[in-house]
Amino acid sequence: MTSILQCMDCGATYPIHHVVYSCASCGGLLDVQHDWDALRPQLTRERFDTRLGALDTPYNSGVWRYQELIYPDIPHDLIVTKPEGNTNLYNLPKLAQWAGVRELRLKHEGENPTGSFKDRGMTSGVSHARVLGMTRVACASTGNTSSALASYAALADLEGIIFLQNRQIALGKLAQGIAYGATCLQINADFDRNLELVRAVSEELNIYVLNSINPFRLEGQKSIIFETIQQLSWQVPDWIVCPGGNLGNSSAFGKALYELYTLGLIDRIPRLAIIQAEGASPLYHSYQNGFQSFQPMKAETIATAIKIGNPVNYPKAVRALKWTNGVVEMVTDQEIMDAKALIDAAGIGCEPASACSLAGTRKLVEAGIIQAHERVVGILTGHVMKDPDATIGYHSNTLEDITPHYANRIYQAGDDIEEIKRVLSKQPQPQA
Ligand SMILES: *Cc1c(COP(=O)(O)O)cnc(C)c1O
Ligand SMILES: [Zn+2]
Repeated sequence: MTSILQCMDCGATYPIHHVVYSCASCGGLLDVQHDWDALRPQLTRERFDTRLGALDTPYNSGVWRYQELIYPDIPHDLIVTKPEGNTNLYNLPKLAQWAGVRELRLKHEGENPTGSFKDRGMTSGVSHARVLGMTRVACASTGNTSSALASYAALADLEGIIFLQNRQIALGKLAQGIAYGATCLQINADFDRNLELVRAVSEELNIYVLNSINPFRLEGQKSIIFETIQQLSWQVPDWIVCPGGNLGNSSAFGKALYELYTLGLIDRIPRLAIIQAEGASPLYHSYQNGFQSFQPMKAETIATAIKIGNPVNYPKAVRALKWTNGVVEMVTDQEIMDAKALIDAAGIGCEPASACSLAGTRKLVEAGIIQAHERVVGILTGHVMKDPDATIGYHSNTLEDITPHYANRIYQAGDDIEEIKRVLSKQPQPQA
């Protein structure tokens, strides 16, 4: 095996076939570390370019195309892939103008098989569960992780177990978990508590935990960066902007960029901007005090995918910010929903949390941190159909404390041609 698990704090190492999620000696988070010295000769842009458009498993996947950077030694017959990735990178001049930058591209991770970027972490995580010979996999989830886990577990013939909050899980996500046949538990606790519970129960019952504390998940999620940069013909943008909840994605992005740079696959590191919702912003507040302290909070936001008050990957996110000279910004639910309405109306569409990328870009431009001449890539993390209640609520103006500045409306008309013509000529309808 050319890969090991290594503690990010004390450097202790563990074989990758050990089921560990944190360092046995200091409690630190673990990284999967590959043997770069042995792999280096294979790691060329040409190698990954040759696999573009591959028809066969696993290189038709936008994760496994980069296998040498993600999980070099895994036997191909153990890989569980749908395939995932190969998501579009949209160039959107109108949204760029709204945000105040020369160029804005949005990478739509909602175009993954189950509708969020979680599929990229789940293909690597569930594949590793098979390497370990585990038969049951579990996660706590605000929704999308459970959708992905349920799907990949079913595909791999493993039992998927999902711990859900009993309130405020978006309809599309709940429906997926049930449909894909997972063992679904609704628990009267928020996400942060559910994560503690799943870890405790899984330890006792020998269940494999696939939350983003699991370093194999993050290896798969690095491919969002690899694919984006390959789509840009290996020319890095100035900024990469993404929402931050449990901070797994931010951590994976930092590691991906650091590795690409140290391996000579890119010639400079773009800056990372992590955007949190105001009501779930512990990283933002810690960033404000120079990471001197970290205060978990009780999370509240309409963007349920990032409604997380005690992100487990906080130390890795701080490291990612240091590696990338990154920044953290925070946006209100009002700003999130307005930005979402613009992304939706552009024909792209996303779930609320994803809109942080656009709302945050605009805010960072206003603050003078992102410059108008810079090139920005924003990550759209989830699909518009994940949370229909938020979308309908916005456009029908029924969301508490949110004014829909970009609302569309539904006209009513009777079974009457003249009335329909009046509506389509946008003349005021006579009052009934
Ligand atoms: C999981 C998720 C996030 C948050 O990602 P983290 O890695 O937890 O920071 C954001 N948006 C969507 C749609 C998600 O599913
Ligand atoms: Zn340690």
